[in-house]
Amino acid sequence: MINRLCIIGTGLIGGSLALALKKSAYCKHIVATGRNEDNLKKALHLGVIDSYELDYASAVSDADVVFLAVPLGAMRDVFEKIKPHLADTTIVTDAGSAKVSVIDAAKQVLGKLNKFIPGHPIAGIEKSGVEAAFDTLFQDRRVILTPVAENMAEDIEFIKSMWKSAGAEVDMMEAVHHDLILAGTSHLPHILAFALVDCLNNLDDVDEIFRFAAGGFRDFTRIASSDPVMWRDICIENSDAILSMMQQYQNEMQKLKDAIKTSDSDKLLEIFTRAKQARDLFSM
Ligand code: NAD
Repeated sequence: MINRLCIIGTGLIGGSLALALKKSAYCKHIVATGRNEDNLKKALHLGVIDSYELDYASAVSDADVVFLAVPLGAMRDVFEKIKPHLADTTIVTDAGSAKVSVIDAAKQVLGKLNKFIPGHPIAGIEKSGVEAAFDTLFQDRRVILTPVAENMAEDIEFIKSMWKSAGAEVDMMEAVHHDLILAGTSHLPHILAFALVDCLNNLDDVDEIFRFAAGGFRDFTRIASSDPVMWRDICIENSDAILSMMQQYQNEMQKLKDAIKTSDSDKLLEIFTRAKQARDLFSM
């Protein structure tokens, strides 16, 4: 049970966690702060938070948990703003989609990491902002915590319980490993969707192309409607792992290009059959 949770970044993720914890009555009071009062007012009006503060000191100083759900590029700035006001007992956690860069920023700004438990909910939709938040976003979804050596087991358990009460399953992973896995399963697919839509959009007969787009195109490119700022930040903050995955993908594309160029039907069938089997197995 959390007495006072402070949310910084009351958008899709911050708002959805607030709603889920309200629903499960796991939190007595949810306060938010941020740079935009209109957004905080909206969150209050929508019943997502219980109150808001315009200064970080009032929002953070009595909090048991501070949850950072701002874009990756804003994490360092927020750590700087909260640092002077954090009590020794306050646990700080986050939702950032890449973990090594957030841990580095926390280390540089906070100095010690013992009370910072890094996390990443593997849940989202292509909409952003507090209006898009809903209380079941994390239901039966995974949350990955990437604890650091300085963390205490009881603090990790506390954050684990918070996510469980929001309906999530919690896994533990090493941060570098997390960033590589997510580069393959989330970051690369988003980049491919953005690239495909941008590529078709640059063609002369773009109107006709989009008019006749079939289900496959819609399925594949739905995630290209995601927030550009969030994805810019992910590409910059997880660049090594993403570049490595992009290279592997480029190698695969080269294999397909060669097979198509030489009408190598065996090769095409081999690649497509192997991929179908892997996809069918994973969806079971
Ligand atoms: P969002 O745009 O819906 O919300 C972000 C919030 O942060 C907004 O309220 C914005 O006003 C606020 N904000 C931005 N810069 C700020 C700053 N400098 N100081 C204070 N507040 C600031 O974004 P979201 O989808 O909720 O994503 C938030 C975080 O969660 C990101 O780090 C993202 O990587 C991570 N995440 C997103 C998803 C997803 O699918 N959307 C999934 C998992 C994790």
